[in-house]
Amino acid sequence: MSSATEIIHSVPVDKLTGSISVPVYQTSTFVQEAPGVNKGYDYARSNNPTRKALETMVTKLENGHDAFAFATGLAAIDSVLKLLSTGDEIIAVDDIYGGAYRLFTHVYEKFGIKIHYVDTTEAENILNHINDKTKLIWLESPTNPTLKISDIQRISEIAHSFNSLVVVDNTFASPIAQRPFEYGADIVIHSGTKYLAGHSDLVAGLVVTSTQELSEKIKFIQNASGGILGPWDCFLTIRGIETLPLRFKQQSATALLIAQFLESRDEVDHVYYPGLSRHKNHEIAKAQQNGIYGGVISFSLKGDTQDAANTFVTSTQYFKLAESLGGVKSLLCHPSQMTHASIPREKRIESGIQDSLIRLSCGIEEVEDLISDLEFAFSKIYQTQKVLAK
Ligand SMILES: *Cc1c(COP(=O)(O)O)cnc(C)c1O
Repeated sequence: MSSATEIIHSVPVDKLTGSISVPVYQTSTFVQEAPGVNKGYDYARSNNPTRKALETMVTKLENGHDAFAFATGLAAIDSVLKLLSTGDEIIAVDDIYGGAYRLFTHVYEKFGIKIHYVDTTEAENILNHINDKTKLIWLESPTNPTLKISDIQRISEIAHSFNSLVVVDNTFASPIAQRPFEYGADIVIHSGTKYLAGHSDLVAGLVVTSTQELSEKIKFIQNASGGILGPWDCFLTIRGIETLPLRFKQQSATALLIAQFLESRDEVDHVYYPGLSRHKNHEIAKAQQNGIYGGVISFSLKGDTQDAANTFVTSTQYFKLAESLGGVKSLLCHPSQMTHASIPREKRIESGIQDSLIRLSCGIEEVEDLISDLEFAFSKIYQTQKVLAK
């Protein structure tokens, strides 16, 4: 694991001025001495020193070969899909991020890419769909929002025996809990919007590669398609990453206490949190995630009604009702009406996203305050139900 020391010193002091923080190179172009003679930078779509500093930092964070910063997580995902050609196939985890589902199904299927959605928590399920056209196995672990865990090492072995690459969207675990290259993954994705930047103040995406060959291909696509992250957002993401180890550990400790609190409540049907020993994939999570499970928890309510979930998500004070996760302020959302609304209900239910499922993202507030906030929201469901019963 990268230590906090390594992380905060992975961005060097500015050679020109001694500036201890990275300068924001707010420029479109770089002056050349003679045609083609430059200081390594010619045009800001191709490269920018502030972006380079972020990309170097994330390369070290994931222990990869190189990293590439994009305007959003989805732009990062999109750049990886551009490695494919018509006729290629993808096997993707079934409760994939809603935006990735939309991109795969509604944009790339049109170009003749076939996608199989599979429950990858059983690695062997992949064998039912993998063939010589399979070019990518697309994993999220933990998944969003039901926090399923896939065995990256086992799946990488299967994938590589069919010459397929393994992509891990590592947004939920962050490199603090999990470094997929250690288990054989080929490409790592981050929505930098979430834990990396960590303050709910920007959108960003990263692709991290494991080999020279993949680095060259993604670099080409980044420049050819142009969906890069601007210098100011690169600066903010760097600043966010400096406190990532502190934040992520604190958020994980808070989430474990809240998950235990939720388990103790009569109103709750099921709690999804990989840190709970009852979680279906707890043992793999424990081994693969360094015993640290992140700040996201999902839970469903008894009776499974959307009304009860609506009352709950509109009754909290500190948990703000908003999409996204991983920031210092706690958030909650109702996936079936928000983040996962683009997935048809049948498919949603199949992958465990019930009508009452609520997702929490724990911030860095005091855990006692967050628990009181949730207690109040539970009391509101009870009051509403009493009024309805009259
Ligand atoms: C948010 C998210 C994305 C998309 O990232 P954006 O920055 O919103 O484009 C992709 N994967 C996961 C797991 C996410 O949570």
